[in-house]
This record gives sequence, C-alpha cells and structure tokens, in this order.
Amino acid sequence: MTIKHHISDSLLMAYSAGQLPEAFNLVVATHLSMCDECRVALGAFDAVGGALVEGADEAAVSDKALDATLAMIASLKPVPDKRARGAGIFPEPLANYVGGDLSAVKWRNLGRGVRQAILPTAKGASVRLLHIPAGQAMPDHGHRGMELTLVLQGAFSDGVGRYNRGDVDSETEATQHKPVAEAGLPCICLAATDAPLRFTALIPRMLQPLFKI
Ligand code: ZN
Ligand code: ZN
Repeated sequence: MTIKHHISDSLLMAYSAGQLPEAFNLVVATHLSMCDECRVALGAFDAVGGALVEGADEAAVSDKALDATLAMIASLKPVPDKRARGAGIFPEPLANYVGGDLSAVKWRNLGRGVRQAILPTAKGASVRLLHIPAGQAMPDHGHRGMELTLVLQGAFSDGVGRYNRGDVDSETEATQHKPVAEAGLPCICLAATDAPLRFTALIPRMLQPLFKI
C-alpha cells in the first residue's frame, strides 16, 4: 500500500497535544495505524511536546536541546505497528468503534446506493462511515469547517486529488469539491466534520437535516 495523502503537521501536533475532538481523533488514529510515515512524524511531535512541557518553567527550551531532539528523531526507524490488526478493512482503533468488520456496520440509505453509518462520539464534531457505489458521485459541496476523509476501500477522485486506501483528504472552508467513487469496489470512507457541509444543489440541501451531514 502506497499512501500519497497524509495528515498535515498541524493536525498531527494537535493530535499529539490531545486537542482534537473525538471524531477527528478517530480518523487520525486510524490513518496512523496504516501509515509508517505519519507514525514517525507523530513520534517527533510527541518528543518535542514532552520537551516543551518539561521545560515549561524555563523561558524557552534551548535551541540546542531542540536540535538534539530533532536529530535523535530523524535517526528513528518506523517501529512495526502492533495495533494494525483490526477486522477486515477496518484497522484498529476503528474496528473497536464499529464493533467488528464491515458486516457489523448498521448502514442507513441516503439514496442512489450511497449509505452512511454515524459512529457514536463526543459532541463538537461527528464521524461517519460512507459507502459509495463504484462510479457514483457525491453531491457537489463546500465546507463550513474541517472535513477529514480517510479511504478504507476502493478509491475516489474529486477533480483535485485521487485518494486510495490509506489516503486522507483534508478539506477546509476555502474548498469545494465533488467526490466521485472510481470503478471497481465500492468506495468506503471514514469522514469527520465539525460543521454541516454547504451543498450547492437544492435536493441535497433539503435532505441535509435528515441525514445530519
Ligand atoms: Zn500518513
Ligand atoms: Zn467534502
């Protein structure tokens, strides 16, 4: 598996500091269990964060200490991931949230073969599994906040990028897109949002409160 789209440094830092809402935490943690590169980067942020906390009484952590920490981190090799067990296409910790593999998901139809299952998390942001049949497009939409989508099966393109299993699509208030599932297997994603989407077409807009999307 070659992952091309990763978690941004700023998100990894927020994750390391424990500042993300549970919904985003789950997407980041699931990507981490699939991605050596982000696990190494997280190790760096964890170490620097620890150094900052320990040196909090000092005016600042000395540049030397920081350089030494970063050099040490650069020499680290990815550790084999013990958490990457999971169930079917769901790595840990997602399999825990779902309570099993694909067969354990309680899907709700959104029409045109698109299905979703909202996972229970703390308020402030929500996270859902999406099932999009091959070749099917999601309605064109903008974002009122952050949207973080991790591909678990199949692939989608949105005119800007192409996302395969393990890839993360990160969208913001500034972006608008129309994800289309590629041919092959249905595209199954884990998507977290912290605000309702902004649909351009009338029908998705009318259905929005019903589907909590
Ligand atoms: Zn990554
Ligand atoms: Zn979007």
